[in-house]
Amino acid sequence: MMKIITNATVITVNEQNEVIYNGAVGFDGGKITYVGKTPEDLSAYDEIIDGTNKYLMPGFINTHGHVGMSLLRGFADDLPLKQWLEDKMWPMEGQFTAEHVKWGTAISIIEMIRTGTTTFVDMYDHMETVAQEVEASGMRGVLCRGVIGFCSEEERQQKLQEAASFASRWNGAANGRIHTMMSPHAPYTCSPEYIQQILEKAIELNVPLHIHMSESKAEVEQNVQDYGVRPVAHLENLGVFNHPTLVAHAVHLTDEEIDTLAKYNVKVAHNPISNLKLASGVARVPEMLAKGVCVSLATDSSASNNNLNLFEELKLAAILHKGVSYDPEVVPAEEALRMATRYAADAVFQKDSLGSLEVGKKADMIMLNAAQAHFQPANDPISHVVYAANGYDVTDTIVDGHFLMKDKELITMDEQKAIAEVNRVFALLKQ
Ligand SMILES: [Zn+2]
Repeated sequence: MMKIITNATVITVNEQNEVIYNGAVGFDGGKITYVGKTPEDLSAYDEIIDGTNKYLMPGFINTHGHVGMSLLRGFADDLPLKQWLEDKMWPMEGQFTAEHVKWGTAISIIEMIRTGTTTFVDMYDHMETVAQEVEASGMRGVLCRGVIGFCSEEERQQKLQEAASFASRWNGAANGRIHTMMSPHAPYTCSPEYIQQILEKAIELNVPLHIHMSESKAEVEQNVQDYGVRPVAHLENLGVFNHPTLVAHAVHLTDEEIDTLAKYNVKVAHNPISNLKLASGVARVPEMLAKGVCVSLATDSSASNNNLNLFEELKLAAILHKGVSYDPEVVPAEEALRMATRYAADAVFQKDSLGSLEVGKKADMIMLNAAQAHFQPANDPISHVVYAANGYDVTDTIVDGHFLMKDKELITMDEQKAIAEVNRVFALLKQ
């Protein structure tokens, strides 16, 4: 089935960062077959979708989060990370069943489809349920069972087996829309031996590793106390960086640590809103980008954000680093946009198939209504998307060539049911 979207302003995010006016993107099944000016002759296409007054661009890739935690949105705000985790999040999450995670995932996926995210990374428990929701919704996911080592040796081995079994069974599932990873939660929740065991499994299964790292100052100090080195050297010594790895946060880094991440080509998920809300600090993004580190954008969970609308991260990443460095030239709009698309595709080890509108890549794309007052005058689409847009300007979301939202209408998800169910299962938790 050959389809084409015509007459759109196409923001390709290709190598040359091309914007094509009166542009078109053709796709056959899940693959992009044409990107260019709207052709005169459209007879080869089975379906023609009019993109007049629309921005057409690659869907966003959210490179770190825990979608099940949307159930805890607004439950515990304005607390320090350690207290927030230990006193609020973990006791509630301890009560979660697959049903809680199912509905937390469903409202998250709905929110992401509505705000232009087409791929998300998820590290959590009950991942079978998350994978089923990804499969049913038509979304693309990079999923891992995050493991925390605070338990008996027997339980640790059981979690490791569960994570490995999940990673091996679901990798490539849902017509290739699901990829998997292995995930020790963090250096402060997993012993060095446990991290190494998880790494060995990742090597064996040939899947990347995903881990939280250097999120807070206290965590870095604790690591030095416990192991004599900061988290970057700790993970380097354990051999983690010899394997494809995506780290979340990387807020507290020395110059030398940035060099280490660049040397090993470690990918970074930058979560500016979550880091600000938990008062963890501001990651040294301009320095990382200058050294060639792959930095992508992410929301983290709705418990620390409190939404999954990546347009907010896009704007914040572009302005936050200007403010803290007193340099308006750092993280320009087009660089921020690459962090949400091209670089993010690289961060999830799918740069050949995702992250830009180019022939041969997956047809994962979004359209925004450009005929709105806040997008006028229509002079610079990339500036408007980064600085003026919000997630609810998205009208259409397409993954693997399928519409998940068309003219603001959800195709694959039952929003009213998800809203009712998430409130029902939340009410059953003991607070
Ligand atoms: Zn996280």
